[in-house]
Amino acid sequence: MMKRANKQCLNCGKEFLPKTVTSVYCSHVCSKKAYKQKMIRLKSEGELKAITDKIPDSRVFISVPEAGMLFGIHIKSLYRLVGQGKIPSVNLGTRLIRIDRRVMVGMFGPARSLPQAAHRRKNYTALKKRTAIQSVK
Ligand SMILES: [Zn+2]
Repeated sequence: MMKRANKQCLNCGKEFLPKTVTSVYCSHVCSKKAYKQKMIRLKSEGELKAITDKIPDSRVFISVPEAGMLFGIHIKSLYRLVGQGKIPSVNLGTRLIRIDRRVMVGMFGPARSLPQAAHRRKNYTALKKRTAIQSVK
């Protein structure tokens, strides 16, 4: 009989004797916890992606929250920089501060692209197919 080596649980870090070669968690509880964490992470990445996807590349003036999401900068820091005049902005009224996207790129580099989870990509393709079918009608 082959002796299996102990593994370290990916969730709690405890050493355990894996039941199968593919086991990465010490217990069902850890596996469930890790799965939940993963789903939360995927969901927030997905939500962020959904918002940033709605901002067209052609739009030059973006709001502070949009800039924060696109460039991965905390909103509070952005408002501070805008308030200090370090980021030039256009004020269209209360809470209607717009930042020139090109200024952001100049200061912080290109907007980040979020890693896409495989299942989301699949959903997106399905969505595109559906839209294509609808537009044919
Ligand atoms: Zn564990």
